[in-house]
This record gives sequence, C-alpha cells and structure tokens, in this order.
Amino acid sequence: MAQLITIGEILVEIMATRIGQTFLEPGTLVGPYPSGAPAIMIDQAARLGADCAIVACVGRDDFGTLNIERLKKDGVNTSGIAVRADQTTGCAFVGYAADGSRKFIFHFTHAAAGALTKDDVPEALFEDVRIFHIMGCSLTSSASLREAVLAGARLAKEKGARLSFDPNIRPELLTDDSLKDAFDWIMENCDILLTGRSELEQVTGLAAEEAVRDMRARGKYAVVIKDGSRGARIVAEGVDTVMPSYHVTEVDPTGAGDCFDGAFLASLLAGKTLQEAASIGNAAGAVSVTRKGPMEGAAMPEEIAAIRA
Ligand code: ATP
Ligand code: MG
Repeated sequence: MAQLITIGEILVEIMATRIGQTFLEPGTLVGPYPSGAPAIMIDQAARLGADCAIVACVGRDDFGTLNIERLKKDGVNTSGIAVRADQTTGCAFVGYAADGSRKFIFHFTHAAAGALTKDDVPEALFEDVRIFHIMGCSLTSSASLREAVLAGARLAKEKGARLSFDPNIRPELLTDDSLKDAFDWIMENCDILLTGRSELEQVTGLAAEEAVRDMRARGKYAVVIKDGSRGARIVAEGVDTVMPSYHVTEVDPTGAGDCFDGAFLASLLAGKTLQEAASIGNAAGAVSVTRKGPMEGAAMPEEIAAIRA
C-alpha cells in the first residue's frame, strides 16, 4: 500500500558523451542509467520520505534489476513492478545538440515497459492512495500501457485520491491520434496539472493564459507551470504566484521536471502549502540539472535544505 502511486515506463538511459554527437555514426556512449519519467518522479518522492509505489513492467534482465534495486534502496514500494521473462527492459538513447535540445531514440513500445496491461494493476496497493500521478509519455507508447494507466487512474479516483498529471510530451513519442481520448479524459479528471508552458498550449490547443483560466474554471485543485531556470508558477484557489528557481550551473536538464513533480507531490503529502511545495520542487529541479543521468539528479533532503538555506 502507498499514499503516492504512479504507473508507467521504467527504462534505462544510454547517453551520448559529446555535445553534437549524433546516432548516425559510431560514438562513445555512457550508461545504463535508471530512467523513465514516472520512475524518476517516484524515486525523488521516496528520497524525500513519501510513502510511494510504482506500477510498471521490466524484463528479467540486468536493466530491470538495476532499476528495481535502485528504487528499493531509495524506499519505493516495488511490489507493483511486473518482471517478465519473455520481455526485455525498455531503453532510451539520448543525444544533446549544441543549442541544448535533446534527441531521443526510444525502445519502449515493443519492450517490457509497453507490455504492462490493466490486469497488472494491483488493487490492494491502492488502499491508502491519496495522489495518483500520470506522465503523458506513458500514454504514448502502447494501447495496453495506456489502458493500464487509465485503469489505475479510475481505481485511484474511486479510492478518493487526487489525480495528478504531467503531460510531459516528447515529440518523438507522439505517433498517433488515438491518444487524444486518453489525454482528454485525464485533462478532464485530473486535480493537479504539472506542466511546461508550451506543453500546456499543445495539450489544450489554447494560449497559455487562456488554458490556465480554462483549468481554473474546471475546478482544478492546482495548476503548476514549470519554466526551467525561471522557476514555477502556481495557480490555485486564491493563489497565483511565481516561485523563483535556485541558481545553479546546468550540466544535464533531463529529469528536472520529473524531480520537480516528485518533490512537489511528496511535499503536499507532508502537509506543505502549494507555495512551499513548489519551492521544494524548484530546489529538486535545480539539484537535478547539476548532475548527469536522469535519475542520478534526484535530490536528498539535505541537498534540498542546503540549496534553500
Ligand atoms: P523535463 O524536460 O524534465 O520534462 P520540464 O519541462 O518538465 O522538464 P523544467 O521547467 O525544465 O521542467 O524544470 C523543472 C524545474 O526544475 C523548474 O521549474 C526549475 O525549478 C528547475 N530547473 C530546471 N532547469 C533549471 C536551471 N537551469 N536552473 C535552476 N533550476 C532549474
Ligand atoms: Mg516535463
């Protein structure tokens, strides 16, 4: 059982070592690093002491073991991770361009990550759930995983949990139109929206300000707009404020948004205000960008305290 539950892909990430390195010719790579947006988020939440779990699927291989051992060590309940002997753990290759943009190659849809089914969602784990978090990227890989995500969300709502959503769009994963129904259902039913500005515009088809007004009119508990080194804006009942970021030197931006989400949700569960939770999320995001590797950036409580001091 857990208070914060997420569902979706567990992957390993393998990174190009040189800025501007492409995958069109041989080059030096580094990894495997534990990864997958929901896994990074939940690892960060666990590091801050949240009672949390992930529902996912890995292969019976070292990439799967690497992830499970890492999540367990940090305190994530891993009993909802299905281990399949007939699958291999998903992976992502990432390269960095000189302008800071990233290019991904995903092995996800036809890997263990995409093989999760709605029957893998363990009802007993949901007894105490208070927040259920979805990453949009988990909807984009396979119909089976998408159904599992929606089944988990419905179950969590039945148990009285708040539904949290980060659209987390990766253009490389947006391959068909049938995602729209799932996105629409989640946008309608989510209570907490954690998003980037351009993502919000993409998902709603509205200009950012209009989208924020629309979300408020739909009675959402909180809308959080993450804005990289500019921090994060919180919009909720009686609240519309930008919580500033912390000054750091960016080494690797991958995972910052996921760490923000994990720290923000863990802080809400610990009884912090929305503003405090966003400030702690900003601190986690800042720590995250100082380290190479997606999950390697997840911050320890003492690191959050130090950066906020
Ligand atoms: P992702 O690419 O991981 O999905 P995102 O778009 O969801 O990222 P960002 O806005 O890039 O999220 O980053 C999340 C948070 O991390 C920001 O709100 C901010 O607090 C912090 N952050 C990100 N980049 C920096 C930076 N260069 N300096 C300081 N803080 C940062
Ligand atoms: Mg994001």
